[in-house]
Amino acid sequence: DDAGVPGRVRVAVRLRPCNAEESVADADFADCVELQPEFKRLKLRKNNWDTDTYEFDEVLTEFASQKRVYEVVAKPIVESVLDGYNGTVMAYGQTGTGKTYTLGRLGEEDTADRGIIVRAMEDILADVSLETDSVSVSYLQLYMESLQDLLDPTNDNISIVEDPKSGDVSLPGATLVEIRDQQSFLELLRLGEAHRYAANTRLNTESSRSHALLMVHVKRSVNGRDLDHSSQNGNTTNMAKTLRPTLVRKAKLVVVDLAGSERIDKSGSEGHTLEEAKSINLSLSALGKCINALAENSAHVPVRDSKLTRLLRDSFGGTARTSLVITIGPSPRHRGETASTIMFGQRAM
Ligand code: ADP
Ligand code: MG
Repeated sequence: DDAGVPGRVRVAVRLRPCNAEESVADADFADCVELQPEFKRLKLRKNNWDTDTYEFDEVLTEFASQKRVYEVVAKPIVESVLDGYNGTVMAYGQTGTGKTYTLGRLGEEDTADRGIIVRAMEDILADVSLETDSVSVSYLQLYMESLQDLLDPTNDNISIVEDPKSGDVSLPGATLVEIRDQQSFLELLRLGEAHRYAANTRLNTESSRSHALLMVHVKRSVNGRDLDHSSQNGNTTNMAKTLRPTLVRKAKLVVVDLAGSERIDKSGSEGHTLEEAKSINLSLSALGKCINALAENSAHVPVRDSKLTRLLRDSFGGTARTSLVITIGPSPRHRGETASTIMFGQRAM
């Protein structure tokens, strides 16, 4: 099992259960998608006689629990972030197939429903020591190549700064909120969601037309457990009290709820919608190229083609780890979109 091995992208596919409308409308059709989780295999029906078979690192059926999805898709990444390596978890798929359900569910009515983001923070908070370590969060939306701060709705033009030597990406203008407990984190997520909704109403767009990125910065002081908390901020008076210098280990977890992958009919679109479609196609295809380059172990990962990939630059290659979950629906009416989602996932492996 190469979970968490740098360089390689792990790809899981998750099938959404039939919704009420589909179970009525598609009752007469032959099954479109068939999963064989024990063989990590997916069969997609081509016609009445033929299916195509694909293999993934993990195949999650419509019965897979949120807990299991977290354990398969995100837990190894979260563990490596706690060890000091950058990690990324992304969800890719057609609108309505469960990306936000998988990543962003808060599970306030039923904790079994909690998605990857909430579970990841729980594991992070359980592992760090808030005396010597810090956990802080930024929450952003990338819409038509403009990066908006979901924690500060007045800031919709965050610039991306790349350190030419280390390749590290920073967002000096983005709000960074320190998290000390799960309750305040949930409040922050709700606030971000509300700001996202307001921004999209103002821009007359839908959340499926933008990428949402949650960034969790974990800073741990190694062998600094006996230090005064303020010494982490470079307070020299306190630093002088210690015999060894404090080693600060930093890593970042990025969770990306990608824009809907569906092909937008450009012929019928104009103005705003056409620009949106072009922008989404550009960023998703740039992302695909970067992931393919990682899969092929290529020395050159073409991060410069879009803001999305520039943002994720320090998540690609090096010691960083990436996990991709592709989400699909069961309906034969969306077979074409399902096939193209599957191909995106296959090329990443
Ligand atoms: P997306 O973010 O890809 O557009 P959503 O996460 O909003 O899709 O899911 C669309 C609908 O399907 C929502 O009502 C969601 O609650 C439901 N849904 C998605 N995945 C599942 C699942 N695994 N189990 C039950 N309901 C799901
Ligand atoms: Mg969504």
